[in-house]
Amino acid sequence: MVTINEHYLKLQAGYLFPEIARRVNEYSQSHPDANIIKMGIGDVTQPLPAAIITAMHAAIDEMASVETFRGYGPEQGHLFLRDTIRDHCFRNRGVDIESDEIFVSDGSKCDSGNLLDIFGNDNTVAVLDPVYPVYVDTNVMVGRTGKANSDGQYDGLVYLPVHAENDFQPELPSEPVDLIYLCYPNNPTGTVATREILQKWVDYARENRSIIFFDAAYEAFISDPEIPHSIYEVDGAQEVAIELRSFSKNAGFTGIRCAYTVVPKKLIGYEHDGSPQALHPIWNRRHCTKFNGVSYPVQRGAEAAYSPEGKQQIEELIRFYMNNARLLREGLTAAGLEVYGGQNAPYVWLKTPGNLSSWEFFDQLLRESQIVGTPGSGFGAAGEGYFRLSAFSDLENTEEAIRRIEASLASKT
Ligand SMILES: *Cc1c(COP(=O)(O)O)cnc(C)c1O
Repeated sequence: MVTINEHYLKLQAGYLFPEIARRVNEYSQSHPDANIIKMGIGDVTQPLPAAIITAMHAAIDEMASVETFRGYGPEQGHLFLRDTIRDHCFRNRGVDIESDEIFVSDGSKCDSGNLLDIFGNDNTVAVLDPVYPVYVDTNVMVGRTGKANSDGQYDGLVYLPVHAENDFQPELPSEPVDLIYLCYPNNPTGTVATREILQKWVDYARENRSIIFFDAAYEAFISDPEIPHSIYEVDGAQEVAIELRSFSKNAGFTGIRCAYTVVPKKLIGYEHDGSPQALHPIWNRRHCTKFNGVSYPVQRGAEAAYSPEGKQQIEELIRFYMNNARLLREGLTAAGLEVYGGQNAPYVWLKTPGNLSSWEFFDQLLRESQIVGTPGSGFGAAGEGYFRLSAFSDLENTEEAIRRIEASLASKT
């Protein structure tokens, strides 16, 4: 008899995005003419930058001739890409990361789950609440939690609530934790962490011999020059932090797939008897055994993101999305909503009006304004009463969405 990994049975059914899709389908079936504006799922909408298209075409052509054909590359990624990342993401900000500390992959979502392979199952895990659901579900799958309670919170995880009252900055955990997930700029709240806040986390991790998973998928959206782009800009972070970066949101690679994870050689974990072990060789072993590298044309495309033209085209894309974020922020604030984020991140996080629950506001927005957003409670119990709107739309839809929300709220006063 084959047995299954029963931890999967603890995962909660009505997962956020399928439930959103279900309600939207139901609505559009009964309102076939409705012009629905989708600002729910965090996916980009604009085409790839031209410099990236050109580089990928050229790489495909190389594959067409026997002199330039390439088969398997290094599992960790081609050096042309890892050297470029080192120079343009780290050295340019005074951070001393080596190319062989950078592991190229097919996505940060996969990386954040895969990383759990190299950590013991007895570790205590802390996540912010609300949180990117992948961090929680991957820990449930490996058996690091008990069952979920009625709020959807799992036994054995430490939840650090963030809300307007604490400025969306969590308290340090009151009990010792071993693995800490931080995501800045934050999905879903759109808020950022200052150097002082990151230093506080790094100091905590050094004192408690913990590891921080720092998800910087949205670093390109930071406009405030005082906000660090990498956790390694903070003293001591290379001893305690793994950083995840992705080409998905800055370069529009959600359908192309390329990301990378930084595992510094100074990073230390422990055996149960307390003996220290460097994590870099262990992660290298894991990565090379279970992964065979990102496709060559995709790595050439990622490299082109750092060419002068690529950089300029990506800056334009970010300006485009962040203009949507600014319009949303200003328009919804003027309409009387309490709005957070949207200044250094492509998400705005708003307090639902009239004390509506997140799902009540979802239904109201769909019914009265034909706009789809994401209920905050879907990201965690502390997200109840909040709502996320994405700036990854086009300008017309963003402006139309603001007009509809203004009209709908005005009709209520
Ligand atoms: C979109 C996103 C990512 C990127 O994931 P990929 O697998 O690289 O596309 C990572 N973390 C968060 C929080 C995200 O929202």
